[in-house]
Amino acid sequence: MKQLFKQTRWRLTIWYAGMMGGILSLCGLGVYEAIDHAHRVTVDQELKSVAGTLHDSLEPVLISPGKLEPAATRLLPDLCLVNTSCYHPATSHHHTVDAITEGSYYMRLYDVSGRLIAVAGLFPPSLPFTPIQQQWITVKDNKGQNYRQISFILQTQTNQNWGYLQVGRNLQDFEAYVTRVKWILLLGLPVAMILIGLAAWWLAGLAMKPIYQSYQQIQQFTADAAHELRTPLAATRATIESILMLPKISETETKDTLTTLGKQNQRLSLLVADLLMLSRMDQQLMQSQSIFSVSVNLNDLVNDVAEELAALALANHIDLTTDIRVKAEILIQGNPEQVYRLISNLVANSIQFTPSLGKVILRLDQTSHHALIQVQDTGIGIPLDEQQHIFDRFYRINSSRSRLSGGFGLGLAICQAITQAHGGTIDVKSEVAKGSLFTLRLPLGKNQ
Ligand code: ADP
Repeated sequence: MKQLFKQTRWRLTIWYAGMMGGILSLCGLGVYEAIDHAHRVTVDQELKSVAGTLHDSLEPVLISPGKLEPAATRLLPDLCLVNTSCYHPATSHHHTVDAITEGSYYMRLYDVSGRLIAVAGLFPPSLPFTPIQQQWITVKDNKGQNYRQISFILQTQTNQNWGYLQVGRNLQDFEAYVTRVKWILLLGLPVAMILIGLAAWWLAGLAMKPIYQSYQQIQQFTADAAHELRTPLAATRATIESILMLPKISETETKDTLTTLGKQNQRLSLLVADLLMLSRMDQQLMQSQSIFSVSVNLNDLVNDVAEELAALALANHIDLTTDIRVKAEILIQGNPEQVYRLISNLVANSIQFTPSLGKVILRLDQTSHHALIQVQDTGIGIPLDEQQHIFDRFYRINSSRSRLSGGFGLGLAICQAITQAHGGTIDVKSEVAKGSLFTLRLPLGKNQ
């Protein structure tokens, strides 16, 4: 069984880590795409504004198509005309006007037929010729470097087509940055996955803990129940076997045997009834059926319990009194039989665990939202370290002492189950040899 819990924990961990890993990868991809897109947009905007500035400053000084006037060369002092000494396609690296010195820009001027006229800026020597008509384009040189390029048509002062202006930008720094982001995300993912895996293992353990505990409780309960059932069953068998061994059986012996069998049977029935009650209460709690429609009058119920147990108190020489501290009737929503069982269990316990000539008081009171029922006795008390266990199923403080009273250790467990089903609380204050005080708080009915 432990194996199953371990397997489930592993499975939960894998599922959780897988889901988180998937979500994280998607987020990472989203972040990467967003950064990539934002950079592309910025590059395009920059390029457009640089090209726009060049275009606007060049056009007014262009007079005849395909010819660069001295005014234009003055405007762009680093402009290098093709077929002049400054043009060395293999090594060309020029400083150019402000607009294109910053960053890795280049500029190319073509005439209308597509013949290169001049270049400026960081001219990539091995960049292929690109169709001038296309406005936006990303080109690759023979070293594999990417360039983003924009083309504009240039017009002379007389609105004739002069040629084309191409402005491009090396994408190296931008691509290096995006690659760095990609690697950070890619390397961060396994680290994040390890952390998620550890967190998932821990969380799965946390989720499994209450399930494992309740499984252990059920196992313990089944073992305890079987153990309790075995005792009366063994006693019945022993009684039957001893009678069967007798050659003859008299009428009085038959009667005695049947009486013993009857008592053993009664004890078994009681245990089975208690077990059934607990299982029903568990179901009720699981289905959250704690909303009852019946109104229960606690004043009547307290008086009924006192009346019913008066004989038991008398037989044990106990002074049982009721102390009803409210004038008006106290009503709660609930199941009358269950509440009766709850109060009578507590009073019967007090009578059982109080020596002769002791006192048991059954008190009824009310706070702003709760009905308060207290059962106080001057009995043997409960040691402090046992107080937290007495509501556990099959828990008896001193089995030899309790067996005398005939209990199974289920009485207070039933009390707690009933209280919880009614949305209330139960607690105990007790001092050994002085007595115990059980306090029950049940929520008042709606019309209280
Ligand atoms: P049982 O049905 O065997 O009495 P309970 O669940 O009612 O079991 O009680 C659990 C244990 O709590 C008992 O074994 C008993 O020792 C202790 N107990 C309960 N009520 C009292 C009390 N009023 N005074 C002293 N001990 C008590």
